[in-house]
Amino acid sequence: LAAELAYFFRGRARQNLKVLLLYCAFLAGMILIYATLFRFLMWNLEGREFTFIAGVYWTITVMTTLGFGDITFHSDPGYIFAAVVTVSGVVFLLIILPFGLISLFLAPWIEHRLRYHPTLELPEETSGHVVIFGLDPITRTLIRKLQTRNIPFVVVTGAYETALRLEEEEGFRVVCGAPTDQKVLQGVRVGSARYLIANLSDPENANLCLTIRSFCKTPIACVVNEPEHAELLRLSGANQVIPLHKILGRYLATRATTRGALAHVIDSFGSLQIAEIPVHGTPFVGQTLEQAAIRQRTGLSVIGVWERGAFTTPSRETLLNPGALMVMAGTREQLEALEALTGEQSAEDLVFILGHGRIGCAAASFLDRKPVPFILVDQQANPDCAEHIPVIGDATGRGLLKQAGIEKAKGLIVTTNDDSTNIFLTLASRHSNPNIRIVARANREENVDQLYAAGADFVVSNASVGANILTNILESKESVFLTEGINVFRRPLPTALAGRTISDSRIRPQTGCSIVALELGEGEEPLIVPPPETLLEKGMGLILIGSPDQEAKFNQAFFRD
Ligand code: ADP
Ligand code: ZN
Repeated sequence: LAAELAYFFRGRARQNLKVLLLYCAFLAGMILIYATLFRFLMWNLEGREFTFIAGVYWTITVMTTLGFGDITFHSDPGYIFAAVVTVSGVVFLLIILPFGLISLFLAPWIEHRLRYHPTLELPEETSGHVVIFGLDPITRTLIRKLQTRNIPFVVVTGAYETALRLEEEEGFRVVCGAPTDQKVLQGVRVGSARYLIANLSDPENANLCLTIRSFCKTPIACVVNEPEHAELLRLSGANQVIPLHKILGRYLATRATTRGALAHVIDSFGSLQIAEIPVHGTPFVGQTLEQAAIRQRTGLSVIGVWERGAFTTPSRETLLNPGALMVMAGTREQLEALEALTGEQSAEDLVFILGHGRIGCAAASFLDRKPVPFILVDQQANPDCAEHIPVIGDATGRGLLKQAGIEKAKGLIVTTNDDSTNIFLTLASRHSNPNIRIVARANREENVDQLYAAGADFVVSNASVGANILTNILESKESVFLTEGINVFRRPLPTALAGRTISDSRIRPQTGCSIVALELGEGEEPLIVPPPETLLEKGMGLILIGSPDQEAKFNQAFFRD
């Protein structure tokens, strides 16, 4: 019903509503004028006095041709006046008004209802589009990214109502039909699509992949719920299987522990490792980067610093605050050197995980392998997990976390499925422990800022991590996603730059991207954060860090064709 009502407040209908209101005002004015005239004539022709209300009452009964006859004129001018009122009532009230209502509202509305046919297939020549099966916050965020990149997409849904709403209200291109029906799949031209995104349940995804593979080879990226199903989905024909919950769990876990450097590796390019290491618990707290001399002592480069969700490219004067997180690039040996330097003084590391859903469970498994001790809290048992034993209880309940020993915790992962709960838990934990590392999960993009405001050191948004992974796959980019806004990515050396030094290449001033490492070739150690006078040679690979804008600028500047 709300959707139907909404129809009247949009576009042409809205315009017509204005016309109707104007017409009603005109009718009301007419009634008031007749009522005044009525009183004037009655008094002057017949010497009778009526109230204004009686005048309005008389006009309405006459105009609607109801004519009770309880108040009547008894003179010719009076009869003429009454006749005029009756005729104008018939014309303006009984003919024009209903006619207007029908032609302005009813007819267009019926036409609109009859005209809406859900799209059942796309034009035959459609190609290069992304087909999305299963709409949720992740694929919605992906759609926003596709829109800004002008990549055409289509959403396939089996529900007529959803199709109508998405097309009408959000302007998405939608095809209505069962995603596993071969006819529907051919109708959305999967054969000529750029990529297919399977984001349904695991069994539905498997069915979908098998159906698609029976007639075409278009690449499929598949979001898998249970990491154990990944192999099955690959067998069904998915090219990329994304265990999103596992990835999110890992993202949360690496950022929550204060333990040795190797626990913090978030990704790697060959032998180059990218790690995020909290300043708190290291001997560098309160020093500038120059004083900390991490490069000289370990060979590692600090390529970025996170503080409360803001990423900066550091300079020598950058101060290492206890709440900050250093993004480092280097080899495994260099990370080991850092571990030796910082010592395992956080051996008594302890991480609390609030929420033992799929993501919490993945975070726990990750910490288990490091191993970092952890305590899980959930209000109910997780039927899919036989591995972990959580403390059962409502984490927001009074005293529960205290009883479980939260004062001893160095890190906290807040990962319930409810953002208000996450915000509340973050706020409460920050209040009682200013030094605890809080890593929180945002189920909805809108809550990222609130979680930072509540005191989280790091927020991971399901939707943006998922959408970033999917976009990277679509654009077949080799890149590591640090968070919304910062990527580490690999590119071959642009031919135009061969033979120049790094400072001559003007990559940084021209694009804003920085070179994290130079790959020299097969079997050779990459050169990490090479100095500006390094000569760039043909065949080298660049590993760069930058925002998506800066990355686009880089492509624009060096790979225009
Ligand atoms: P996901 O699988 O995406 O991690 P789930 O909905 O499966 O998401 O997991 C969220 C978990 O958080 C559930 O197991 C739920 O019981 C738990 N949870 C939600 N609110 C609270 C709370 N106030 N205290 C403890 N656990 C909670
Ligand atoms: Zn578990």
